[in-house]
Amino acid sequence: MKQLSPTSNNIKISAKELKLGNLVAFPTETVYGLGADGLNPIAVSKIFETKKRPTFNPLILHINSMQMLNKIAWLKEKKIEKLLDKFWPGPLTIILPKKEIVPDIVTAGLETVAVRMPNNKIALQLIKELGNPIAAPSANSFGKLSPTTAEHVAKQLSEKVDIILDGGSCNVGVESTIVKITKDKNYLLRPGGISVEELESVAGKFENLNNENKPDSPGQLKIHYAPEIPIYFFDEEKIIENRYKNLGGLFFRKSKLEKYFSSIKILSQKGNLNEAAANVFSFLHEFENENVDMIFVETIEYSGLGNAIMDRLSKAVNKFR
Ligand code: AMP
Ligand code: MG
Repeated sequence: MKQLSPTSNNIKISAKELKLGNLVAFPTETVYGLGADGLNPIAVSKIFETKKRPTFNPLILHINSMQMLNKIAWLKEKKIEKLLDKFWPGPLTIILPKKEIVPDIVTAGLETVAVRMPNNKIALQLIKELGNPIAAPSANSFGKLSPTTAEHVAKQLSEKVDIILDGGSCNVGVESTIVKITKDKNYLLRPGGISVEELESVAGKFENLNNENKPDSPGQLKIHYAPEIPIYFFDEEKIIENRYKNLGGLFFRKSKLEKYFSSIKILSQKGNLNEAAANVFSFLHEFENENVDMIFVETIEYSGLGNAIMDRLSKAVNKFR
């Protein structure tokens, strides 16, 4: 791990590291972020691996210009533009319909993406040098304190991150406010660096997103991505019983059961968990588009990223139990 001062040359070096698919921790005005090239699914999988997040939570994409925003998301409501004009760059994250280019692992399979333009010169220059949005959650291990200095990051992640850009301490120090705006309503998904009162002075009343999307812990939405098609873990008897239907098989590696399936997708030929994580949501989407009758998925060992993959797959499978 290298801890670098944020000179423009070091920011260029950091952007190169990101282009190679590696991780860089960098300062924003809220907390330090653990960044990966947001359009490279394998690089994004390393964020989950490094943080040891037990599941795939959707990530925020950090951008430096409206042009970059237009590359990744649809801006449909005039109200949204008013909010962005007023609060960007700044600690406001907005949920928008995503464009095709955004990898499924970033949004955990959702059709929407969270976007923010941070108010920090180092972050903005890093994004500009990369030329792509940077996916970044806080640069801490899951369940540990969010880092507001480069030293906090080094203490937790020095073994695992390639570069830490040292930009001193973060001046906001709490995470961003997350909102979702529809034609008729404004929703607050997570309170943060910008107060609801400030938001309401620009866009009218906000309500907390409740009922089935109720936050289950501070700032965390309970989002279950599950395909529409019945999905089960591998069960040889059940597969053979249903062999005359159109079966989709989501395999980790190659398997002798392949002959029973009309469509097969292999998460990783080499059995690589990063690659498997990067593919899991997009393959489930593909099965939906192919209209298979049932999907069977192979179980993966619960270690490293295998935990996150199995957590998401179990949630999908539970829907059909
Ligand atoms: P953080 O972990 O601080 O980077 O914040 C990321 C949080 O943003 C996630 O835990 C979600 O609660 C929220 N989030 C990200 N993407 C979405 C989305 N597409 N829809 C709803 N919430 C999202
Ligand atoms: Mg966090």
